[in-house]
Amino acid sequence: MRRRGRRWGARSDAPRVIVVGAGFAGLAAVAELARAGMQVMLVDRNGYSTFQPLLYQVATAGLNSGDVVYSARALTRKHGARFRLGELTGIDAVHRRITLADGGQFEYDYLVLATGVSAAYYGVPGAAENSLGLYTRKDAVALRDHIMARLERLDIGGPGKDVNFTIVGGGATGVELAGALAELRETALDAAFPEVDLASVHITLVEMAPVLLAPFAPALQEYARQELVGRGVEVRLSTEIREVTGDCVLLANGDDLPSDVTIWAAGVAAPDAAGRWGLPQGRGGRILTGPDLRVHGQDRVFAAGDIALVDGLPLPQLAQPAIQSGRHAAWQVERLVKGRPTAPLVYHDKGIMATVGRRSAVVQLPHGVRVRGTLAWLAWLGLHLVTLLGGRNRLVALINLSWRYVSWGHGGGVIVGDDPPAGLDRGGSGE
Ligand SMILES: Cc1cc2nc3c(=O)[nH]c(=O)nc-3n(C[C@H](O)[C@H](O)[C@H](O)COP(=O)(O)OP(=O)(O)OC[C@H]3O[C@@H](n4cnc5c(N)ncnc54)[C@H](O)[C@@H]3O)c2cc1C
Repeated sequence: MRRRGRRWGARSDAPRVIVVGAGFAGLAAVAELARAGMQVMLVDRNGYSTFQPLLYQVATAGLNSGDVVYSARALTRKHGARFRLGELTGIDAVHRRITLADGGQFEYDYLVLATGVSAAYYGVPGAAENSLGLYTRKDAVALRDHIMARLERLDIGGPGKDVNFTIVGGGATGVELAGALAELRETALDAAFPEVDLASVHITLVEMAPVLLAPFAPALQEYARQELVGRGVEVRLSTEIREVTGDCVLLANGDDLPSDVTIWAAGVAAPDAAGRWGLPQGRGGRILTGPDLRVHGQDRVFAAGDIALVDGLPLPQLAQPAIQSGRHAAWQVERLVKGRPTAPLVYHDKGIMATVGRRSAVVQLPHGVRVRGTLAWLAWLGLHLVTLLGGRNRLVALINLSWRYVSWGHGGGVIVGDDPPAGLDRGGSGE
C-alpha cells in the first residue's frame, strides 16, 4: 500500500507559523497565512472548532452538540495546513518552541495565540465549584443533562416540589439562555412533561449592572428585559452575588435564592494555562499586546481574539473582533516576512445582535440602525445559520431549530441524554 506522508500546500522553506486555537480568530489566521504560502500548523486541545453562539441551544435541548462543532482537520486540510491535537502548556520564546501537554514540541518562526477565554468568577466563594459554565461543547451537554435531570426529578417528586434555575450574568449568553429556558418551560415541557406543573419551574437571571446587554442602546436593553419578564423570567438587576453554594445563590443584600442549577455566564478570563506561558498578562489574565497584536516584549508572538488585550483598543469579546484580529495577526506575519513594518489593527464595527427567543431579538448596526422583534430574530437566525461551519451542520441546525420553533408545543422533540451522576458532574453524556 502506498505510504501517505506529509502533504503541505506550502514550500518546505516557507516560514513556519503555529496558530494555537481553532476558534474564530485562529481559523481566520490559518486561512490568511495559508493563502500567503506559509507552512501553517493549527493546534487545538479539541479536534474541532466550536460555534459558541449556538451552545445555549445545545444546553436547552434544541440542537445536538455535533451540530455546532466542525472538524479542525477538515478545515486545515482545506487550506493545505497541518492540524495537531494538543494543549499548549509552554512557550520558549528564546528558542521559538512550544510545548504541548503530551510532551510534543514544535519550533516556529511566528506564533499566533488564539486560545479564547472562559468564565471569570471574580473571587465569589463557591462560584467555580457550584455552578456550570457554557464555553465548550462539553459544558453545553453537561448543562442540558442537568436541566433535563432536574425536570425528571420534578416529575418523580410529585406535586409540591419546585426546581430553580439561576443564571448569573445579563450579557448575550445569559439573556439567550434565560429566554431559551423559558421557551423550554412554556412549549416543550407542556408537551413532554404533562404531569409537571409549569409554575414549579423558576428561572432567575441575576445581573450586577443596572441593565441587561450592556453594549446595546438603552431602548434595546429595556426591550430585552421586558421580553424576558413577559416570558416568566425573574430579572434581578443591580444585584451582587456574595456566594454560591450547592443549592443556593446568596446575594450581597442578604437575600438567598434557592438554586438547583446555577449557570455562570458572567465575565471573561484567560484559561489557567496562560499563566504558564511566560507572557505579560492584563485584566482577567488576558495577554497584553501592542496595537499590531504583537505580544508585549515579543517580536514573533502574536495574540488575537478574546485572549488578546490590545493597547488602546478595548474590543468586545465577540466573533467579529476575533475574526478581524486573527486575520490582522496573519497579515502582520506576512509583513514581517517581507521585511515591512507592522500596522495597527483598525476594527470595523459590523454591529451586534442578541436573541431572547422565538420572534424576539435585538440588532444594533452602525450609524444608529436598530431593529427588534421578529425581523431582528429572522436576521439573527439567518446570520447564525450562514456563519455555522460546514454544510451538514447548517442543514441539520436548520432542521433542528425549525423543529424547536415550529413543533415543540405539539409533541416535544427535545434532545435528551443520560441522567448525570449526583453532584455537579461536568462530563455530559457525550451527545
Ligand atoms: C455561550 C456563548 C455565546 C456567544 N454568543 C455570541 C454571539 O451571539 N455573537 C458573537 O459575536 N459572539 C458570541 N460569543 C462570543 C464569541 O463566541 C467569542 O468572542 C469568540 O468565539 C472568540 O473567538 P476566539 O477565536 O478568540 O476564541 P474561541 O472561539 O473561544 O476559540 C479558542 C480555541 O482555543 C482552544 N484552546 C484554548 N486553550 C487552549 C490551549 N491551551 N491549547 C490548545 N488549544 C486551546 C479552544 O479549544 C478553542 O477551540 C459567545 C460566546 C459564548 C461562550
